Amino acid sequence: MSQRILIVEDNKTLAKLISKKIEAALDFQVDIAYSLGEAKLFLKMYKYFITLLDINLPDAPNGEVVDYVLSKDNRAIVLSANIDKEFRQNILKKNIIDYVNKGGVDDINYIIQTIDRLHKNQNHTVLVVDDSMVFRKQMQNLLKNMFFKVISVAHGEEALNILGTNSDINLVLTDYHMPVMDGLELTYEIRKEHNKNSLAILAVSSNKDNEVNAIFLKAGANDFITKPFSKEEFSCRINNTIEALENIQIVTNHANRDYLTGLYNRRFFFETMAEYQDEIGEDGEKFAVAMIDIDHFKKINDTYGHDVGDKIIIALSEVLRTSTSHRDLVARFGGEEFCMVLKNINRYSALDIFERIRQEVESFSFTVDKDNFVKFTISIGCVIHSQELLEETISNADMMLYKAKNAGRNQVVFEA
Ligand code: GH3
Ligand code: MG
Ligand code: MG
Repeated sequence: MSQRILIVEDNKTLAKLISKKIEAALDFQVDIAYSLGEAKLFLKMYKYFITLLDINLPDAPNGEVVDYVLSKDNRAIVLSANIDKEFRQNILKKNIIDYVNKGGVDDINYIIQTIDRLHKNQNHTVLVVDDSMVFRKQMQNLLKNMFFKVISVAHGEEALNILGTNSDINLVLTDYHMPVMDGLELTYEIRKEHNKNSLAILAVSSNKDNEVNAIFLKAGANDFITKPFSKEEFSCRINNTIEALENIQIVTNHANRDYLTGLYNRRFFFETMAEYQDEIGEDGEKFAVAMIDIDHFKKINDTYGHDVGDKIIIALSEVLRTSTSHRDLVARFGGEEFCMVLKNINRYSALDIFERIRQEVESFSFTVDKDNFVKFTISIGCVIHSQELLEETISNADMMLYKAKNAGRNQVVFEA
């Protein structure tokens, strides 16, 4: 069920245009009210993700709708054609999220981007570190208004503790002057564990602290903001930082994953396995490695076409993904060939799991259309890793796969 947005705007053409554009670009359901009276009725019926408010309505000519909507615990973006500076400042003093011109197409695009940003902000947790309760509360309110999850603490040591136990935090907002560990030391400490691309730091300094902003950036802060700041500058800097972080994560994800199935690719497989092997050490836990290959896949491609072949590869990847726990690893090595690692496991349990996967695939039928189903099977070659190099283990698993194929396919062969 998609969330709702309420537009309160008496210019019907404009309201419909904004509504259409939002529904085309984002997954929201939009209601339109042409007056404060209508808005009240909608607000009684539904809970809104956000409201877009015209401040000049026939039954509310002076922004009364803003106070009403805020009093009902809804979040608001104000739409206005009025660019008077004083008027704008007064509106911004209210607890609204943004103040947007409603002149043209660019303004509508800005509104859509803003809503999209706020929607994504819900997935991010921000840690606020400030010894002043007043500032802490102020920043916390601003961030919550921007839909972030917020944790706030009063000093650096506490911040490090929280970071140690809470891996959801994406952004740390730290004050400079704090007793014991100041913001700069905190930045140095955080950077020992987390790089700029996985955890962003935004430093909050005062305009009396000369040159400290540059020092913060050199210490690894992603950006800074100087007190006193305007609400608009604050939200722009926060959003920019989060957006950069998201973009890096998208690119990294592309680099690590196979395009067709979304499984990890070969490169990522070897990279994370090297880390894992470092972690467990030479005499550490045992893990099982399996090479998995679809039987007579060429025939499937030749009979049903390459597209169906692709879909079968995707269907198999789903089976493999759902058969493993989050610690295990499945990668597509190429074509219709997959590699799977089951961590901390013995031979018997591993054999059991691989055999179950083989049977699940055997009993599965892929629907091409209402008259056509494709059945297919897989062969699996597996080994338990011991002292040798990972490459050797994989080549042994490959040899077992070869044996499985030669012995008639649709079977699991485990190294003796
Ligand atoms: P075997 O049981 O010995 O594994 O027989 P097979 O036909 O599966 O063997 P082979 O590895 O020779 O053939 C694999 C075929 O998979 C060849 C290639 O055209 C096809 N293929 C490779 N990558 C893809 C892909 O991404 N999509 C599709 N649809 N086909 C692919
Ligand atoms: Mg094959
Ligand atoms: Mg093959």
